[in-house]
Amino acid sequence: MKNMELKEQLVKLLGSDNVCDEMAERICYFRDCGPDKAGIPDIVVKPGNTEEIAVVIRLANKIKKPVYTWGRATTFLGSGVPQGCILLTTTRLDKILKVDLDTSTVTVQAGVIWHTIDAVLKDHNRELFIPGGGGLFSGTVGGSVAVNVIPHAITEYGMTGDHVLGLEVVLPDGTIIHTGASANPDCLPIERYSNGPDISGLFMGAYGTLGIITEITYRIRKTPELEKFAFYAFADYKKAVEAVNEIQKENAATFVIGLFAGPKPKDVEGEAFIHIIVRDSEREATYRLKQAERLCESFNGIAHDAFGTKKYWEDHMYSWLRNVAPGPYYAGAPYMCPEVAGFMPTLQLKDSLALLFQYVEDHKAEFEKYDILIKGFDTYFTRNGVYLWIDTLYNEMKEDSWKYGLKLRGELCDLMYGKGKMAAGGLGAGVAPYAMPKLGNTFTFLKQLKKTMDPNNVLNPGVLFLGD
Ligand SMILES: Cc1cc2nc3c(=O)[nH]c(=O)nc-3n(C[C@H](O)[C@H](O)[C@H](O)COP(=O)(O)OP(=O)(O)OC[C@H]3O[C@@H](n4cnc5c(N)ncnc54)[C@H](O)[C@@H]3O)c2cc1C
Repeated sequence: MKNMELKEQLVKLLGSDNVCDEMAERICYFRDCGPDKAGIPDIVVKPGNTEEIAVVIRLANKIKKPVYTWGRATTFLGSGVPQGCILLTTTRLDKILKVDLDTSTVTVQAGVIWHTIDAVLKDHNRELFIPGGGGLFSGTVGGSVAVNVIPHAITEYGMTGDHVLGLEVVLPDGTIIHTGASANPDCLPIERYSNGPDISGLFMGAYGTLGIITEITYRIRKTPELEKFAFYAFADYKKAVEAVNEIQKENAATFVIGLFAGPKPKDVEGEAFIHIIVRDSEREATYRLKQAERLCESFNGIAHDAFGTKKYWEDHMYSWLRNVAPGPYYAGAPYMCPEVAGFMPTLQLKDSLALLFQYVEDHKAEFEKYDILIKGFDTYFTRNGVYLWIDTLYNEMKEDSWKYGLKLRGELCDLMYGKGKMAAGGLGAGVAPYAMPKLGNTFTFLKQLKKTMDPNNVLNPGVLFLGD
Protein backbone atom coordinates (compact mmCIF):
# COMPACT_ATOMS: atom_id res chain seq x y z
CA MET A 1 0.00 0.00 0.00
CA LYS A 2 1.33 3.45 -0.91
CA ASN A 3 1.91 5.87 1.94
CA MET A 4 -0.79 8.29 0.69
CA GLU A 5 -3.36 5.50 0.70
CA LEU A 6 -2.21 4.35 4.14
CA LYS A 7 -2.58 7.90 5.43
CA GLU A 8 -6.12 8.15 4.04
CA GLN A 9 -7.11 4.92 5.75
CA LEU A 10 -5.56 5.93 9.05
CA VAL A 11 -7.21 9.35 8.92
CA LYS A 12 -10.56 7.61 8.43
CA LEU A 13 -9.87 5.49 11.51
CA LEU A 14 -8.32 8.07 13.86
CA GLY A 15 -9.15 11.52 12.49
CA SER A 16 -6.77 13.89 10.73
CA ASP A 17 -5.45 15.44 13.98
CA ASN A 18 -4.06 12.08 15.02
CA VAL A 19 -2.17 11.08 11.89
CA CYS A 20 0.92 12.84 10.65
CA ASP A 21 3.32 12.18 7.78
CA GLU A 22 5.24 15.48 7.92
CA MET A 23 9.02 14.94 7.90
CA ALA A 24 9.43 17.61 10.61
CA GLU A 25 7.47 15.39 12.99
CA ARG A 26 8.63 11.98 11.76
CA ILE A 27 12.29 12.84 12.25
CA CYS A 28 11.72 13.42 15.98
CA TYR A 29 11.32 9.67 16.50
CA PHE A 30 14.60 8.33 15.19
CA ARG A 31 16.30 8.20 18.55
CA ASP A 32 15.65 7.61 22.26
CA CYS A 33 17.77 9.10 25.11
CA GLY A 34 20.74 6.92 24.13
CA PRO A 35 23.34 6.88 21.35
CA ASP A 36 21.64 4.63 18.78
CA LYS A 37 20.27 6.14 15.62
CA ALA A 38 17.24 4.21 14.38
CA GLY A 39 14.89 4.50 11.40
CA ILE A 40 12.46 7.26 10.51
CA PRO A 41 8.79 6.22 10.48
CA ASP A 42 6.61 6.75 7.40
CA ILE A 43 3.72 7.89 9.51
CA VAL A 44 2.94 8.79 13.12
CA VAL A 45 -0.39 7.88 14.72
CA LYS A 46 -1.84 8.95 18.05
CA PRO A 47 -4.75 6.66 18.90
CA GLY A 48 -7.00 7.81 21.74
CA ASN A 49 -8.18 4.45 23.08
CA THR A 50 -7.59 0.71 23.06
CA GLU A 51 -10.03 -0.03 20.24
CA GLU A 52 -8.25 2.49 17.98
CA ILE A 53 -4.91 0.80 18.72
CA ALA A 54 -6.42 -2.58 17.85
CA VAL A 55 -7.73 -1.23 14.55
CA VAL A 56 -4.29 0.16 13.61
CA ILE A 57 -2.66 -3.18 14.44
CA ARG A 58 -5.16 -5.10 12.33
CA LEU A 59 -4.46 -2.78 9.39
CA ALA A 60 -0.70 -3.18 9.88
CA ASN A 61 -1.10 -6.96 9.69
CA LYS A 62 -3.15 -6.67 6.53
CA ILE A 63 -0.47 -4.65 4.76
CA LYS A 64 2.45 -6.26 6.66
CA LYS A 65 3.88 -2.98 7.86
CA PRO A 66 5.80 -2.81 11.17
CA VAL A 67 4.42 -0.78 14.09
CA TYR A 68 6.64 0.72 16.78
CA THR A 69 5.08 1.70 20.12
CA TRP A 70 6.43 4.96 21.52
CA GLY A 71 5.94 5.88 25.17
CA ARG A 72 8.21 8.82 25.92
CA ALA A 73 11.49 7.31 24.72
CA THR A 74 13.27 7.82 28.04
CA THR A 75 15.27 4.60 27.67
CA PHE A 76 18.97 4.78 26.79
CA LEU A 77 19.16 1.42 25.12
CA GLY A 78 18.28 1.86 21.47
CA SER A 79 14.64 2.32 20.47
CA GLY A 80 14.98 0.24 17.30
CA VAL A 81 12.34 2.24 15.39
CA PRO A 82 12.18 0.41 12.03
CA GLN A 83 12.69 2.53 8.91
CA GLY A 84 9.35 3.26 7.25
CA CYS A 85 7.17 1.90 10.08
CA ILE A 86 3.92 3.17 11.57
CA LEU A 87 4.93 4.87 14.78
CA LEU A 88 2.18 4.61 17.41
CA THR A 89 2.46 6.96 20.37
CA THR A 90 0.54 6.37 23.60
CA THR A 91 0.49 10.10 24.46
CA ARG A 92 -3.30 10.34 24.30
CA LEU A 93 -3.81 7.36 26.62
CA ASP A 94 -3.24 9.69 29.55
CA LYS A 95 -6.14 9.05 31.92
CA ILE A 96 -6.21 7.81 35.47
CA LEU A 97 -9.29 5.60 35.20
CA LYS A 98 -9.95 4.66 38.81
CA VAL A 99 -8.50 5.08 42.28
CA ASP A 100 -10.15 2.38 44.38
CA LEU A 101 -9.42 2.86 48.08
CA ASP A 102 -11.45 -0.23 49.03
CA THR A 103 -9.32 -2.61 46.98
CA SER A 104 -6.14 -0.46 47.28
CA THR A 105 -5.68 -0.27 43.52
CA VAL A 106 -5.27 2.34 40.82
CA THR A 107 -6.12 1.67 37.17
CA VAL A 108 -4.49 3.90 34.55
CA GLN A 109 -4.06 4.13 30.82
CA ALA A 110 -0.59 3.23 29.55
CA GLY A 111 0.46 6.72 28.46
CA VAL A 112 0.18 8.27 31.94
CA ILE A 113 3.49 9.33 33.46
CA TRP A 114 4.37 8.04 36.94
CA HIS A 115 4.49 11.45 38.52
CA THR A 116 0.89 12.22 37.53
CA ILE A 117 -0.32 9.15 39.43
CA ASP A 118 1.79 10.07 42.45
CA ALA A 119 0.28 13.55 42.49
CA VAL A 120 -3.30 12.22 42.39
CA LEU A 121 -2.67 9.56 45.05
CA LYS A 122 -1.08 12.11 47.37
CA ASP A 123 -4.52 13.70 47.85
CA HIS A 124 -5.67 10.38 49.33
CA ASN A 125 -2.55 9.91 51.50
CA ARG A 126 -1.74 6.96 49.25
CA GLU A 127 1.17 6.12 46.97
CA LEU A 128 2.01 3.54 44.35
CA PHE A 129 3.27 0.44 46.13
CA ILE A 130 6.57 1.11 44.47
CA PRO A 131 7.65 4.45 43.05
CA GLY A 132 8.69 4.81 39.40
CA GLY A 133 12.37 4.80 38.40
CA GLY A 134 14.49 7.90 38.02
CA GLY A 135 12.59 8.75 34.86
CA LEU A 136 9.33 9.15 36.77
CA PHE A 137 8.80 12.73 35.60
CA SER A 138 8.97 11.68 31.96
CA GLY A 139 8.55 7.92 31.40
CA THR A 140 5.07 6.45 30.83
CA VAL A 141 3.73 3.67 33.04
CA GLY A 142 3.11 1.49 29.95
CA GLY A 143 6.69 1.93 28.74
CA SER A 144 8.04 1.29 32.22
CA VAL A 145 6.09 -1.93 32.66
CA ALA A 146 7.08 -2.97 29.12
CA VAL A 147 10.78 -2.63 30.02
CA ASN A 148 10.48 -3.80 33.63
CA VAL A 149 11.82 -0.52 34.90
CA ILE A 150 14.05 -0.71 37.98
CA PRO A 151 12.21 1.45 40.48
CA HIS A 152 13.35 3.42 43.46
CA ALA A 153 13.01 1.78 46.89
CA ILE A 154 13.67 -1.58 45.27
CA THR A 155 15.71 -2.86 48.24
CA GLU A 156 12.58 -3.42 50.28
CA TYR A 157 9.64 -3.14 47.88
CA GLY A 158 10.78 -5.20 44.88
CA MET A 159 10.34 -4.75 41.15
CA THR A 160 7.75 -2.72 39.26
CA GLY A 161 6.08 -5.87 37.95
CA ASP A 162 5.69 -7.29 41.47
CA HIS A 163 2.87 -4.81 42.07
CA VAL A 164 1.05 -5.02 38.75
CA LEU A 165 -2.31 -6.71 39.31
CA GLY A 166 -3.59 -6.83 35.76
CA LEU A 167 -3.15 -5.47 32.26
CA GLU A 168 -5.18 -4.74 29.21
CA VAL A 169 -3.15 -5.60 26.12
CA VAL A 170 -3.59 -5.41 22.35
CA LEU A 171 -1.98 -8.54 20.93
CA PRO A 172 0.04 -8.50 17.68
CA ASP A 173 -3.05 -9.58 15.68
CA GLY A 174 -5.23 -6.81 17.15
CA THR A 175 -7.08 -8.95 19.72
CA ILE A 176 -7.71 -7.17 23.04
CA ILE A 177 -7.15 -9.22 26.21
CA HIS A 178 -7.19 -8.69 29.99
CA THR A 179 -4.84 -10.47 32.36
CA GLY A 180 -5.33 -11.56 35.98
CA ALA A 181 -8.64 -11.46 37.85
CA SER A 182 -10.40 -9.09 35.44
CA ALA A 183 -9.93 -11.48 32.50
CA ASN A 184 -13.34 -12.49 33.86
CA PRO A 185 -15.35 -9.32 33.08
CA ASP A 186 -17.49 -9.88 36.18
CA CYS A 187 -14.43 -9.50 38.45
CA LEU A 188 -12.38 -6.53 39.60
CA PRO A 189 -8.61 -6.46 38.88
CA ILE A 190 -7.50 -7.34 42.39
CA GLU A 191 -5.23 -10.34 41.77
CA ARG A 192 -2.62 -11.02 39.12
CA TYR A 193 -2.33 -14.74 39.85
CA SER A 194 -5.85 -15.81 39.03
CA ASN A 195 -7.69 -17.38 36.09
CA GLY A 196 -4.84 -19.70 35.19
CA PRO A 197 -1.30 -18.90 34.06
CA ASP A 198 0.31 -15.55 34.83
CA ILE A 199 -0.19 -13.92 31.44
CA SER A 200 0.76 -10.43 32.70
CA GLY A 201 4.39 -11.52 33.03
CA LEU A 202 4.56 -12.22 29.31
CA PHE A 203 4.32 -8.52 28.52
CA MET A 204 6.61 -7.21 31.26
CA GLY A 205 10.13 -6.88 29.95
CA ALA A 206 8.96 -7.79 26.42
CA TYR A 207 9.69 -4.25 25.17
CA GLY A 208 6.44 -4.12 23.22
CA THR A 209 7.35 -7.11 21.03
CA LEU A 210 4.46 -9.33 22.19
CA GLY A 211 1.68 -6.80 22.68
CA ILE A 212 0.82 -3.17 23.34
CA ILE A 213 -0.10 -2.52 26.96
CA THR A 214 -3.07 -0.15 27.07
CA GLU A 215 -4.21 -0.27 30.73
CA ILE A 216 -2.53 -1.22 33.99
CA THR A 217 -3.90 -1.89 37.46
CA TYR A 218 -1.40 -1.31 40.17
CA ARG A 219 -1.34 -1.89 43.92
CA ILE A 220 -1.38 1.22 46.16
CA ARG A 221 -0.95 1.72 49.90
CA LYS A 222 -0.87 4.31 52.65
CA THR A 223 2.20 6.52 52.53
CA PRO A 224 4.65 5.46 55.29
CA GLU A 225 4.81 7.70 58.35
CA LEU A 226 8.48 8.62 58.28
CA GLU A 227 11.52 8.79 55.99
CA LYS A 228 15.06 8.75 57.36
CA PHE A 229 18.38 9.10 55.53
CA ALA A 230 22.06 8.20 55.97
CA PHE A 231 25.15 8.60 53.80
CA TYR A 232 28.41 6.68 54.25
CA ALA A 233 31.82 6.79 52.58
CA PHE A 234 34.11 3.75 52.47
CA ALA A 235 37.89 3.79 51.86
CA ASP A 236 37.61 0.23 50.46
CA TYR A 237 34.80 -0.46 47.98
CA LYS A 238 34.71 -4.15 48.90
CA LYS A 239 33.82 -3.25 52.48
CA ALA A 240 30.95 -1.11 51.19
CA VAL A 241 29.57 -4.10 49.27
CA GLU A 242 29.86 -6.34 52.34
CA ALA A 243 28.11 -3.76 54.52
CA VAL A 244 25.17 -3.53 52.13
CA ASN A 245 24.93 -7.30 51.92
CA GLU A 246 24.38 -7.34 55.70
CA ILE A 247 21.86 -4.49 55.50
CA GLN A 248 19.89 -6.50 52.93
CA LYS A 249 19.90 -9.61 55.13
CA GLU A 250 18.59 -7.57 58.09
CA ASN A 251 16.02 -5.70 55.94
CA ALA A 252 17.44 -2.57 57.56
CA ALA A 253 16.73 -0.23 54.63
CA THR A 254 14.05 0.56 52.10
CA PHE A 255 16.49 1.71 49.44
CA VAL A 256 20.27 1.51 49.21
CA ILE A 257 22.20 3.14 46.38
CA GLY A 258 25.93 2.60 45.89
CA LEU A 259 28.32 4.77 43.91
CA PHE A 260 31.53 3.01 42.83
CA ALA A 261 33.12 5.20 40.18
CA GLY A 262 32.71 8.53 38.47
CA PRO A 263 32.97 11.92 40.17
CA LYS A 264 33.14 11.73 43.96
CA PRO A 265 30.43 13.41 46.01
CA LYS A 266 31.55 16.96 46.79
CA ASP A 267 33.89 17.32 49.79
CA VAL A 268 33.90 13.58 50.61
CA GLU A 269 36.84 11.20 50.33
CA GLY A 270 36.60 7.47 49.68
CA GLU A 271 36.39 4.69 47.10
CA ALA A 272 32.68 3.97 47.46
CA PHE A 273 29.63 5.85 48.73
CA ILE A 274 26.37 4.45 50.08
CA HIS A 275 23.07 6.32 50.30
CA ILE A 276 20.47 4.79 52.61
CA ILE A 277 16.75 5.58 52.75
CA VAL A 278 14.42 4.05 55.33
CA ARG A 279 10.63 4.46 55.19
CA ASP A 280 8.45 3.05 57.93
CA SER A 281 6.49 3.89 61.06
CA GLU A 282 8.39 6.31 63.31
CA ARG A 283 9.48 3.57 65.70
CA GLU A 284 10.55 1.12 62.99
CA ALA A 285 12.29 3.73 60.81
CA THR A 286 14.37 4.92 63.74
CA TYR A 287 15.29 1.37 64.71
CA ARG A 288 16.09 0.25 61.15
CA LEU A 289 18.24 3.29 60.34
CA LYS A 290 20.27 2.73 63.53
CA GLN A 291 20.78 -0.89 62.49
CA ALA A 292 21.93 0.17 58.99
CA GLU A 293 24.31 2.74 60.48
CA ARG A 294 25.74 0.18 62.88
CA LEU A 295 26.34 -2.23 59.99
CA CYS A 296 28.08 0.43 57.87
CA GLU A 297 30.31 1.39 60.77
CA SER A 298 31.22 -2.23 61.46
CA PHE A 299 32.65 -2.30 57.91
CA ASN A 300 34.62 0.94 58.50
CA GLY A 301 32.08 3.23 56.83
CA ILE A 302 32.35 6.92 57.74
CA ALA A 303 29.09 8.81 58.23
CA HIS A 304 28.58 12.13 56.40
CA ASP A 305 25.78 14.66 56.13
CA ALA A 306 22.82 12.98 54.39
CA PHE A 307 21.50 16.21 52.84
CA GLY A 308 22.27 14.96 49.30
CA THR A 309 20.50 11.64 50.00
CA LYS A 310 17.36 13.43 51.14
CA LYS A 311 17.44 15.85 48.19
CA TYR A 312 17.94 12.96 45.77
CA TRP A 313 14.99 11.08 47.23
CA GLU A 314 12.69 14.09 47.32
CA ASP A 315 13.73 15.77 44.05
CA HIS A 316 14.56 12.60 42.08
CA MET A 317 17.62 14.34 40.72
CA TYR A 318 20.64 12.07 40.28
CA SER A 319 23.15 14.87 40.69
CA TRP A 320 22.25 15.06 44.39
CA LEU A 321 23.84 11.64 44.82
CA ARG A 322 27.11 13.43 44.31
CA ASN A 323 26.03 16.66 45.94
CA VAL A 324 26.64 18.60 42.76
CA ALA A 325 24.57 20.62 40.33
CA PRO A 326 23.35 18.66 37.26
CA GLY A 327 25.97 20.19 34.92
CA PRO A 328 29.09 18.65 36.42
CA TYR A 329 27.30 15.35 37.10
CA TYR A 330 26.34 14.90 33.47
CA ALA A 331 29.70 16.37 32.42
CA GLY A 332 27.89 19.20 30.66
CA ALA A 333 25.97 18.77 27.41
CA PRO A 334 26.37 17.23 24.91
CA TYR A 335 27.83 14.07 26.45
CA MET A 336 25.61 10.99 25.89
CA CYS A 337 25.50 7.58 27.47
CA PRO A 338 25.56 4.08 25.93
CA GLU A 339 24.38 2.35 29.09
CA VAL A 340 25.04 -1.28 30.06
CA ALA A 341 23.08 -2.58 33.04
CA GLY A 342 22.00 -5.72 34.85
CA PHE A 343 21.64 -7.86 37.96
CA MET A 344 24.02 -9.97 40.01
CA PRO A 345 24.31 -11.28 43.58
CA THR A 346 25.52 -8.53 45.92
CA LEU A 347 28.84 -10.14 46.84
CA GLN A 348 29.58 -10.85 43.14
CA LEU A 349 29.71 -7.07 42.72
CA LYS A 350 33.19 -7.05 44.29
CA ASP A 351 34.64 -9.20 41.49
CA SER A 352 32.61 -7.56 38.75
CA LEU A 353 33.73 -4.09 39.81
CA ALA A 354 37.34 -5.33 39.90
CA LEU A 355 36.91 -6.40 36.24
CA LEU A 356 35.50 -3.00 35.34
CA PHE A 357 38.26 -1.08 37.12
CA GLN A 358 40.84 -3.21 35.31
CA TYR A 359 39.10 -2.60 31.98
CA VAL A 360 39.21 1.15 32.56
CA GLU A 361 42.88 0.99 33.57
CA ASP A 362 43.72 -1.00 30.41
CA HIS A 363 41.85 1.46 28.17
CA LYS A 364 42.90 4.71 29.86
CA ALA A 365 44.76 6.02 26.82
CA GLU A 366 41.85 5.22 24.49
CA PHE A 367 39.34 6.86 26.83
CA GLU A 368 41.45 10.00 26.71
CA LYS A 369 41.89 9.85 22.94
CA TYR A 370 38.15 9.39 22.27
CA ASP A 371 36.89 11.71 25.00
CA ILE A 372 35.16 9.06 27.09
CA LEU A 373 34.14 9.95 30.64
CA ILE A 374 32.78 7.73 33.39
CA LYS A 375 29.58 9.13 34.84
CA GLY A 376 29.40 6.24 37.28
CA PHE A 377 29.30 2.56 38.06
CA ASP A 378 26.24 3.02 40.18
CA THR A 379 23.95 0.51 41.85
CA TYR A 380 20.46 0.05 43.23
CA PHE A 381 20.48 -2.80 45.72
CA THR A 382 17.52 -5.11 45.14
CA ARG A 383 15.90 -7.63 47.49
CA ASN A 384 18.15 -10.49 46.34
CA GLY A 385 21.15 -8.81 44.80
CA VAL A 386 22.18 -5.65 43.05
CA TYR A 387 21.36 -3.80 39.85
CA LEU A 388 24.50 -2.24 38.38
CA TRP A 389 24.40 0.37 35.68
CA ILE A 390 27.59 1.29 33.89
CA ASP A 391 27.37 4.81 32.56
CA THR A 392 30.18 5.79 30.23
CA LEU A 393 29.78 9.07 28.37
CA TYR A 394 30.96 9.94 24.88
CA ASN A 395 31.15 13.38 23.31
CA GLU A 396 28.17 13.72 21.01
CA MET A 397 29.94 16.38 18.91
CA LYS A 398 32.74 14.02 17.85
CA GLU A 399 31.96 11.16 15.49
CA ASP A 400 34.95 9.07 16.55
CA SER A 401 33.92 9.49 20.19
CA TRP A 402 30.39 8.23 19.35
CA LYS A 403 31.77 5.26 17.39
CA TYR A 404 34.14 4.41 20.22
CA GLY A 405 31.26 4.76 22.72
CA LEU A 406 29.26 2.12 20.81
CA LYS A 407 32.28 -0.20 20.57
CA LEU A 408 32.87 0.27 24.29
CA ARG A 409 29.25 -0.66 25.03
CA GLY A 410 29.67 -3.90 23.05
CA GLU A 411 32.86 -4.78 24.90
CA LEU A 412 31.33 -4.02 28.28
CA CYS A 413 28.30 -6.18 27.43
CA ASP A 414 30.58 -9.07 26.46
CA LEU A 415 32.63 -8.62 29.62
CA MET A 416 29.74 -8.24 32.05
CA TYR A 417 27.33 -10.82 30.60
CA GLY A 418 30.28 -13.25 30.63
CA LYS A 419 33.01 -13.05 33.26
CA GLY A 420 31.09 -10.33 35.13
CA LYS A 421 28.24 -12.83 35.74
CA MET A 422 25.62 -10.16 35.14
CA ALA A 423 22.08 -10.87 33.86
CA ALA A 424 20.85 -8.15 31.53
CA GLY A 425 18.39 -5.79 33.19
CA GLY A 426 18.19 -3.16 30.49
CA LEU A 427 17.70 -4.34 26.91
CA GLY A 428 16.70 -2.59 23.72
CA ALA A 429 17.87 -2.72 20.13
CA GLY A 430 21.39 -1.57 21.09
CA VAL A 431 22.05 -4.13 23.81
CA ALA A 432 19.85 -7.14 22.93
CA PRO A 433 22.26 -8.54 20.27
CA TYR A 434 24.87 -8.99 23.02
CA ALA A 435 22.54 -10.29 25.75
CA MET A 436 19.96 -12.50 24.02
CA PRO A 437 22.18 -15.06 22.22
CA LYS A 438 23.64 -15.98 25.62
CA LEU A 439 20.25 -17.36 26.66
CA GLY A 440 20.51 -20.67 24.74
CA ASN A 441 17.23 -22.61 24.71
CA THR A 442 15.44 -19.70 26.32
CA PHE A 443 16.41 -17.51 23.37
CA THR A 444 15.12 -20.19 20.96
CA PHE A 445 11.87 -20.38 22.95
CA LEU A 446 11.45 -16.58 22.86
CA LYS A 447 11.99 -16.53 19.11
CA GLN A 448 9.35 -19.25 18.68
CA LEU A 449 6.97 -17.38 20.96
CA LYS A 450 7.39 -14.20 18.94
CA LYS A 451 6.82 -16.08 15.68
CA THR A 452 3.68 -17.75 17.03
CA MET A 453 2.17 -14.60 18.51
CA ASP A 454 3.25 -12.26 15.74
CA PRO A 455 3.60 -14.26 12.51
CA ASN A 456 3.74 -11.09 10.39
CA ASN A 457 6.40 -9.65 12.70
CA VAL A 458 4.59 -6.32 12.97
CA LEU A 459 5.16 -5.35 16.62
CA ASN A 460 8.54 -3.77 17.39
CA PRO A 461 10.51 -6.09 15.09
CA GLY A 462 14.19 -6.09 15.94
CA VAL A 463 13.91 -4.54 19.40
CA LEU A 464 14.74 -7.74 21.29
CA PHE A 465 16.78 -9.33 18.50
CA LEU A 466 14.29 -12.17 18.25
CA GLY A 467 15.70 -13.44 15.01
CA ASP A 468 14.00 -11.17 12.52
C1 LIG B 1 16.50 10.90 34.07
C2 LIG B 1 16.15 9.46 33.84
C3 LIG B 1 16.28 8.55 34.88
C4 LIG B 1 15.96 7.22 34.70
N1 LIG B 1 16.06 6.36 35.75
C5 LIG B 1 15.73 5.07 35.60
C6 LIG B 1 15.78 4.18 36.71
O1 LIG B 1 16.02 4.59 37.82
N2 LIG B 1 15.50 2.88 36.48
C7 LIG B 1 15.17 2.42 35.22
O2 LIG B 1 14.95 1.21 35.06
N3 LIG B 1 15.08 3.25 34.17
C8 LIG B 1 15.34 4.55 34.35
N4 LIG B 1 15.25 5.40 33.28
C9 LIG B 1 14.78 4.86 32.00
C10 LIG B 1 13.30 5.11 31.75
O3 LIG B 1 12.71 5.90 32.71
C11 LIG B 1 12.44 3.89 31.54
O4 LIG B 1 12.99 3.02 30.66
C12 LIG B 1 11.07 4.40 31.13
O5 LIG B 1 10.26 4.53 32.23
C13 LIG B 1 10.39 3.79 29.94
O6 LIG B 1 9.18 4.54 29.68
P1 LIG B 1 8.93 5.31 28.32
O7 LIG B 1 7.52 5.75 28.33
O8 LIG B 1 9.93 6.37 28.09
O9 LIG B 1 9.13 4.12 27.29
P2 LIG B 1 9.89 4.14 25.87
O10 LIG B 1 11.32 4.48 26.08
O11 LIG B 1 9.10 4.99 24.95
O12 LIG B 1 9.72 2.65 25.46
C14 LIG B 1 10.52 1.64 26.00
C15 LIG B 1 10.15 0.30 25.32
O13 LIG B 1 8.83 -0.08 25.68
C16 LIG B 1 7.98 -0.13 24.53
N5 LIG B 1 6.70 0.44 24.95
C17 LIG B 1 6.43 1.73 25.28
N6 LIG B 1 5.15 1.85 25.67
C18 LIG B 1 4.60 0.61 25.56
C19 LIG B 1 3.30 0.09 25.80
N7 LIG B 1 2.30 0.86 26.23
N8 LIG B 1 3.10 -1.23 25.57
C20 LIG B 1 4.09 -2.04 25.14
N9 LIG B 1 5.34 -1.59 24.88
C21 LIG B 1 5.58 -0.29 25.10
C22 LIG B 1 8.69 0.66 23.46
O14 LIG B 1 8.32 0.23 22.18
C23 LIG B 1 10.16 0.39 23.79
O15 LIG B 1 10.56 -0.84 23.28
C24 LIG B 1 15.54 6.77 33.44
C25 LIG B 1 15.38 7.67 32.39
C26 LIG B 1 15.68 9.01 32.58
C27 LIG B 1 15.49 9.96 31.44
